Amino acid sequence: CGIIGVLGDHEAAPILVDALKRLEYRGYDSAGIATVRNGTLDRRRAVGKLVNLSDLLVHDPLPGKAGIGHTRWATHGAPTEANAHPHRADRVAVVHNGIIENFQELREDLQAQGIAFESETDTETVARLAQHYLDQGNSPRDAALQTIARLNGAYALCFLFEGEDDLLIGARKGSPLAIGHGEGEMFIGSDAIALSPMTDRITYLDEGDTAIVTRETLEILEAEGRIANRPVKTIRLDA
Ligand code: GLU
Repeated sequence: CGIIGVLGDHEAAPILVDALKRLEYRGYDSAGIATVRNGTLDRRRAVGKLVNLSDLLVHDPLPGKAGIGHTRWATHGAPTEANAHPHRADRVAVVHNGIIENFQELREDLQAQGIAFESETDTETVARLAQHYLDQGNSPRDAALQTIARLNGAYALCFLFEGEDDLLIGARKGSPLAIGHGEGEMFIGSDAIALSPMTDRITYLDEGDTAIVTRETLEILEAEGRIANRPVKTIRLDA
């Protein structure tokens, strides 16, 4: 329901949890974050209020300056920790808003190839599919692009990869997604409110856009794969 991504200069976990608080107004039943630190991908998830996630992080911290976070409003699968985002398949973690309409078909296809699933969500299919493309030798960028090309439905997505401390990939189709520009930092969020303390310089993705984000660069591809030029807007949120 709410998405946040950070390629920062500081520890990501507190920034992610703070941003998720600003997305609470959308409603949610569980929450989670994932980070990459020295190449290692890890995650923490908790059912219920965000305080459950922040309590968990006190006892079991999640270091790293690159990360993604999510507040979930369950559509496929009960509100359990196993169904909470980020969903992970080996070297990739994914957060997702919306619904992947053809997930059942994609899931059965992967299962037929011996790939096991741990949740009931449509979202896990996205992570498993991306890992499948990584296993075929694709780069994270190509794996994400090939995955996105196979999805039907309405979604905003953000991918984080093991071994990649400086890469987020976001995609928008039917659910908004904004890129926030910092000073040597970059952010992805469901809306400008989520990003407001970090930056007021925002690039909104158009329908069908995929954003390849590093701390210093933003590349946006439109659905047909052409490079798109989207404006950076300075937005003003009234307090
Ligand atoms: N369809 C996904 C799920 O049920 C995402 C729901 C959401 O937008 O939070 O996990």
